[in-house]
Amino acid sequence: MSKKLADFQLPDEKGYFGEYGGSFIPPALQVIIDEITDAYNKIKVDKEFIEELQSLYTHYVGRPSPLFYARNLSRKVGGAQIYLKREDLNHTGAHKINHCLGEALLAKKMGKKIIIAETGAGQHGVALATAAALVGLECHIYMGVVDIAKEKPNVTRMKILGARVVPVTRGTQTLKDAVDAAFEAYLEDPVNQLYAIGSVVGPHPFPMMVRDFQQIVGIEARKQFQEMTGKLPDNLVACVGGGSNAIGLFTAFLHDKSVKIYGVEPSGRGLDDGDHAATLTLGKPGVLHGFHSYLLQDKEGVPLPVYSVASGLDYPGVGPQHSLLRDLERVNYVTADDKESIDAFFELSRVEGIIPALESAHAVAFALKLAAELPQDKTILVNLSGRGDKDLDFVMDNYGKDYEIK
Ligand SMILES: *Cc1c(COP(=O)(O)O)cnc(C)c1O
Repeated sequence: MSKKLADFQLPDEKGYFGEYGGSFIPPALQVIIDEITDAYNKIKVDKEFIEELQSLYTHYVGRPSPLFYARNLSRKVGGAQIYLKREDLNHTGAHKINHCLGEALLAKKMGKKIIIAETGAGQHGVALATAAALVGLECHIYMGVVDIAKEKPNVTRMKILGARVVPVTRGTQTLKDAVDAAFEAYLEDPVNQLYAIGSVVGPHPFPMMVRDFQQIVGIEARKQFQEMTGKLPDNLVACVGGGSNAIGLFTAFLHDKSVKIYGVEPSGRGLDDGDHAATLTLGKPGVLHGFHSYLLQDKEGVPLPVYSVASGLDYPGVGPQHSLLRDLERVNYVTADDKESIDAFFELSRVEGIIPALESAHAVAFALKLAAELPQDKTILVNLSGRGDKDLDFVMDNYGKDYEIK
């Protein structure tokens, strides 16, 4: 395989990043998805669309999100200097609003009436319901009844925002069944509806489109870091579920050879016993949800059950561009486990007064390990993808006793 830097600017016309990506869907659905590709390719160079999205980023989301030098944390570790890109300060508390606004605006421009999606823990559902309320679209969120019971605050949020939460009662009644149900509903009325995928996954054009909407994170961070330090960061760190916040940060730095890049996957309760979601660490290429990528699967190619303490990271696949970046060895994919991430969750809260999302705590956990190994004149830029408000009860119920100050 060619290792040309130009490869990072993919995908090609058919949606391939090297051998990964593409579109593996029924012909009837392909016709509909092609319309989305055409509409997106027109709109992404349309001045009015670009300005409208930029204006919403500034006045609605609160961009640019700050870059924060974590002096206390860096001193405590005693190694490299740690900087945080504060996506947790965005409206709705995470990076997901960046692509949900893009997808909702695209739906509106395409004349759609309804935007639909699945959600697991409810984070994508809440961000999309928010964007739909603002842009003026109906919003239908498909959610397994097991998840509905588990994620009550997010279900309430979606309802208050005016979205319809459609309970999914089939199969295991969780995320994968919600995806199937949402796809079926989409096929029933593709004229009035647009399916909004929640990460850089799914058939072409979604991995490209969601990446493009998230690129703002890295573009801002690169400029902010140079203004603050006069240099580029030596290392980038971001957590990887489907991979949208990570690719959002990485894209602006892929050509900077001096910048080492780390994507952090959840090793859960440990890589040996199967209770993890370390797709690029232990997976093999295969097809899931309409695209070819690394995948945690059994010998027959059936996706394996996955687990992480951070529900936003437990997906058996990963965005196709990450699979290419892994093969090209441009990004190092590493892991952090539950325990290290909970430790990092409390450490960042207590040393800097910032409560991270459990997903983002995986990136912080790895950054702490990396910083300890590096000299003090090196720097690490971490994407703090979201805030921990959604995780407070879960963390206190399950880990509170171990971390209580007496
Ligand atoms: C959903 C989510 C993630 C994981 O999704 P990616 O597509 O891998 O970024 C990470 N952090 C937060 C805060 C999330 O809500």
